[in-house]
Amino acid sequence: MTALLEVEDLRVAYGKIEAVKGISFSVGAGEVVTLIGTNGAGKTTTLRTLSGLLEPLAGKITFDGKPLRKIPAHKIVAMGLAHSPEGRHIFPRMSIEDNLRLGAYLRNDKDGIEKDIQRAYDLFPILGERRKQAAGTLSGGEQQMLAMGRALMSQPKLLMLDEPSMGLSPIMMQKIMETISALKAQGTTILLVEQNAQAALSLADQAYVMETGTIKLSGTGQDLLHDESVRKTYLGED
Ligand code: ATP
Repeated sequence: MTALLEVEDLRVAYGKIEAVKGISFSVGAGEVVTLIGTNGAGKTTTLRTLSGLLEPLAGKITFDGKPLRKIPAHKIVAMGLAHSPEGRHIFPRMSIEDNLRLGAYLRNDKDGIEKDIQRAYDLFPILGERRKQAAGTLSGGEQQMLAMGRALMSQPKLLMLDEPSMGLSPIMMQKIMETISALKAQGTTILLVEQNAQAALSLADQAYVMETGTIKLSGTGQDLLHDESVRKTYLGED
């Protein structure tokens, strides 16, 4: 079976600085795949390239059987690839519900949109309780929920999450990770970028460790969770 997303020898540069230096990985339908690694490893750059926000220097990206070369970002969303960005980028003055609706801007199936808004409220009850309030009044963790809910509103075939646990309390982080598990159980395919290696590896079917623009190690989440070098470098063990 071919993978839903196939990345081959991808290279991305900012001017002369190569941030991603020839990485290859794939995401199968229904899988949770994680890219872990420290600051500056190139994880965000990779996701932004997959979304069409950055142009690769070289390499091949195939999504749902089609090459993504030179396809603008909005068309990539329409093909089924959604991105919940680092830092969330919600619209603070707009209501929570309107932020969710924005995620469905390419759809015109009114009933389906209402159903998916309801689904987001089932997944994150706090968003439903406060649906009319300005999104900027939500806590960091709640804004992360909104960013995830908004990305799901495009009915993606693949959901990319960039550092969903960033800046969250341990309890809120736990909640976000449980939600990712719940989405996986519902069959959502997820590419998860995380600095919290423990949480990400625990969830992931497949995992890739990035370091300075390259993939240093790969394996199942469980394998890497028990790998000695990963434990030392990324899980803070001696
Ligand atoms: P983080 O968790 O900090 O976001 P990351 O693994 O996602 O880390 P990237 O943000 O992809 O890493 O950054 C990879 C490299 O590219 C870093 O050296 C970074 O300084 C550089 N970089 C990122 N964005 C730009 C930019 N707009 N212009 C120039 N260099 C950049």
